[in-house]
Amino acid sequence: MVRVVQAYRFALDPTGCQGAVLASHCGAVRVAFNWGLAQVRANLAQREAERSYGIPEDRLTPALSWSMPALRKRWNQVKDEVAPWWAGNSKEAYACGLARLADALSNWRDSKSGKRKGPKMGFPRFKTKRRTARSVRFTTGTIRLDGHAHVVLPVLGRIKTHEPVTKLARLLAGGGARIASATVRWQEGRWHVSFTVHTERPQGSPARPDTVIGVDLGIKTLAVFSDGRPPVANPRHLTTALRKLRRLSRAVSRKRGPDRRTRQRPSQRWLRANAARNRAEHRVAALRRDGIHKLTTSLARTYGTIVVEDLHVAGMIRNRRLARAVSDAGFGEIRRQLTYKTTWHGGRLLVADRWFPSSKTCSSCGAVKTKLPLRVRTYVCEGCGLSMDRDENAALNLASLVERTVAGSGPETRNGRGADHKTPPGGAGGRETSTPHRAPAARIRRGPSPAPGESLRILETQ
Ligand SMILES: [Zn+2]
Repeated sequence: MVRVVQAYRFALDPTGCQGAVLASHCGAVRVAFNWGLAQVRANLAQREAERSYGIPEDRLTPALSWSMPALRKRWNQVKDEVAPWWAGNSKEAYACGLARLADALSNWRDSKSGKRKGPKMGFPRFKTKRRTARSVRFTTGTIRLDGHAHVVLPVLGRIKTHEPVTKLARLLAGGGARIASATVRWQEGRWHVSFTVHTERPQGSPARPDTVIGVDLGIKTLAVFSDGRPPVANPRHLTTALRKLRRLSRAVSRKRGPDRRTRQRPSQRWLRANAARNRAEHRVAALRRDGIHKLTTSLARTYGTIVVEDLHVAGMIRNRRLARAVSDAGFGEIRRQLTYKTTWHGGRLLVADRWFPSSKTCSSCGAVKTKLPLRVRTYVCEGCGLSMDRDENAALNLASLVERTVAGSGPETRNGRGADHKTPPGGAGGRETSTPHRAPAARIRRGPSPAPGESLRILETQ
């Protein structure tokens, strides 16, 4: 058995009254967050002003603690004055807002000191009613399922779900799982509850544990496989829906919408038209999510080893000609799902280095072309005369890369790695660069955070 933390999300059908209470809780999260942030900012400003008057460091107003317990303690002292209506919501709502503030502050501090990787975090900003996503998290109190179509949450009580919760209910009844928290969110025009569940999954094994499959992801065809499995066409849900979305958007813009400057309230017709447009957008997201889940589940259940390319999705999205198509295809999500689903099913996901020339290499003789423009859809090898679909060739290269690598695997060495892998001028567009590549180094390194420069890395092993 493997211990995992898994989320179960269900759409809710709250009554009108319950919907209002949910909205109130989300508002309470925002109020607590903003209150805490105002305290922190006032404290920082006070100390800064005192410093400018030349007051020595040890005689300044004491710094406010940014920790969650300290913030909550202070909130409990003043909540009767700051928010006399506080008893209308669960205390979890205020705790949730303060916990998010404490996280935001510590993220900012760690990012500033270099402890936190990734893009620089800004100092937390006040949450506005309009821009802030509505969500609230419950960690204590009564959180459970009731029957097959209801959930029970603190203060809110019993809420009907839009879909059956049978699967999770059975798991909980059997003692195989425990709910750690519940988060209620307004998403895609509906309230949803997401349970964070600690559970154990049986250590399964893929149907064909010894097989290796190379998966070439692309926009023309979503996924091409190395083993002759029929390719998955790119469904392009957004592209298909664009005509309809444009028509619905025009309908919205012809009606009297809200205007903040004149405080004009939207008309009923505008609200209806806007809801129709939103529904069409949510449908695109739902179709995409469904297709990707089916693809990744099927792959993870079947194959022992899955090899994909390390696509530079963030870079491709920066290219405005590719951005929409890439986002619509959902490459990043496919990779993310394959990562955890291969772990669940006892397989492994291998990620070929971003600079591995999967498209430019001949899958038959190993010759590497220096150039292969994207418009060339058929790979023709001058060396051995091979002629095959470009993506199929790439998928074969990905699959054979692992055979070569794993066959010669052993304790890897650090010396003699590939050339330097700096981003070429013009940015890493996710497409291969036109610089000649070395043949892939037959070397792997186990572990979650491999050094850059290997042709292949094992993301997940059982
Ligand atoms: Zn060849």
